[in-house]
Amino acid sequence: MSRRIAIIGGGYIGAELAKALDNTADVTLIEPRSHFVHAPAMIRAVVDPSLLDRALIPYDRLLKNGRVIRTRASGIDATGVTLEDGQRVEADQIVVATGSANAMPFKPVGDDIVGLRKANQRIHEQLKTARRVGIVGAGAVGTELAGEIAHAMPDKEITLISDADRLFPTMPEKLGAGLAKKLRAAGVTLILGKRAQNLQSMTEPHTGRLTLSDGSEQEFDLIFPALGSRASSELLKTLPDTRKSTANRVKVDKWLRPSALPNVFAAGDVADAGDGMTIVATSRQLPWLKTTLKGLMAGKPIQEMKPYKPWGPKAPILVPLGPKRGNSFLGLFTAGDLLTRKMKGEDLFVTKYNKLLNRA
Ligand SMILES: Cc1cc2nc3c(=O)[nH]c(=O)nc-3n(C[C@H](O)[C@H](O)[C@H](O)COP(=O)(O)OP(=O)(O)OC[C@H]3O[C@@H](n4cnc5c(N)ncnc54)[C@H](O)[C@@H]3O)c2cc1C
Repeated sequence: MSRRIAIIGGGYIGAELAKALDNTADVTLIEPRSHFVHAPAMIRAVVDPSLLDRALIPYDRLLKNGRVIRTRASGIDATGVTLEDGQRVEADQIVVATGSANAMPFKPVGDDIVGLRKANQRIHEQLKTARRVGIVGAGAVGTELAGEIAHAMPDKEITLISDADRLFPTMPEKLGAGLAKKLRAAGVTLILGKRAQNLQSMTEPHTGRLTLSDGSEQEFDLIFPALGSRASSELLKTLPDTRKSTANRVKVDKWLRPSALPNVFAAGDVADAGDGMTIVATSRQLPWLKTTLKGLMAGKPIQEMKPYKPWGPKAPILVPLGPKRGNSFLGLFTAGDLLTRKMKGEDLFVTKYNKLLNRA
């Protein structure tokens, strides 16, 4: 029986898949970080660092039967994974879930959880003394950050800058329009349709003066770059016949395979399967991966199994503006404060991910 499954990366896809297969397969999860990083809570942690105690969750209780090896994978081939120290993990199926990097203080650099905590503290202190705060990029992270700061620190002058003409331009108009209205009501200035041209850093919050594409200038005590994620796809790019996509991602076929190796799968942010780089996307990929890997373990050929179907452009999205307000698009309709608060804003799924990692 081919039951050995190696999973590289213990983020949203990797950790949940490892746990789901722990009773049926021989699972090895390769993950260099000491703690799972619950990204949605990292935004509120900028205004409330105490959240980090539950949003950075140790891996030590995740698996009961399988093992978590705390190191980086450095190579993949048809029979397994090579680790940074030269050791091997032999495997029948390999799932690459190396995810993506983002700006400080939202995700660690590499495995540096201590560095993430320090950055969170430093940036929180800078924010407390800042008067004018600029946020460059109005995707979900930039928009939520504006909402969190406006809620927790209403004395700040917050400006949210985007080169798009409206918030969430690919979603139904009602979502972005509703969020813009709520942000303005909370005192946030929106500058839309203009690009910040001289950002000093794409990854570190800093003080400075921004020149916008219309020539105007804006001075800030603290500028947060919120320009999106960049996939960690170095491992995948060493495989035969991979195809690059945007944001450093790698394209996968309809069975989530990134290369000519039939037993190597990729999912989550690193893999372009037609989904966005979101946890919402991983929630659709997970059940498919579970079923498919179980089918392979039972000896079923992959061609006889259902291919993966992505969400498509209108995947659901929940956008809290602090713990009380926000708007969401739930596939069929747009929801307001109450549903957004109950589904995400109050708890930010912190309880769910503590449960996943077997913490109280
Ligand atoms: C601030 C912020 C807030 C967000 N909020 C939301 C939200 O509310 N809703 C939503 O749907 N999405 C949200 N996202 C997006 C979401 O975080 C990502 O889509 C998600 O993290 C992707 O999960 P993943 O498992 O693919 O990768 P990640 O979560 O990035 O995990 C990848 C893991 O792989 C490990 N790894 C990397 N390289 C190696 C290697 N060589 N060997 C071994 N391990 C390796 C890393 O250490 C990491 O633990 C947010 C993102 C950010 C930055």
